[in-house]
Amino acid sequence: MEKTLILLKPDCVQKNLIGRVIARFEEAGFIIRACKMIQLTDDVLREHYAHIAEFPFYPDVETFMKETPVVALVLEADGIIDKMREMLGVTDCLEAAEGTIRAEWGSKEEGKNKMCNIAHASDSAETAEVEVKRFFSEDELFSY
Ligand code: ADP
Repeated sequence: MEKTLILLKPDCVQKNLIGRVIARFEEAGFIIRACKMIQLTDDVLREHYAHIAEFPFYPDVETFMKETPVVALVLEADGIIDKMREMLGVTDCLEAAEGTIRAEWGSKEEGKNKMCNIAHASDSAETAEVEVKRFFSEDELFSY
């Protein structure tokens, strides 16, 4: 079984979509191993988004990601990394395939369509391992 780290971003929180997005995960058969609401800080964001930190749009991402608390989850299922990335759709909500979470609920507004895209999901098993540890301690992960 594979794990992935999810962050339900401030646009998801502001649009009151937390429940509907989590319902999609449950309907897909993904098991919730951990779940909590947290306020992100500049330090954790610079670590989490190190791969985009040099891009000119990064300061806007940092501001956006601190607008409200986010909901962090660890989900588990066979092949969940690929299944989740498919369920989310590509980064740009205007280009995300029909039926994906980002196409359905992400921002279609010019300038926001690539940033306000509802959720983060780990992009590989290696990244997931690091990201799960970034946001959760061992005793916050549950097997049941
Ligand atoms: P993804 O979240 O789809 O894996 P990336 O890891 O490339 O995408 O980027 C991390 C996050 O940074 C994106 O989800 C999005 O919120 C933001 N982002 C990426 N590219 C842009 C861009 N060109 N303009 C604004 N925000 C962006």
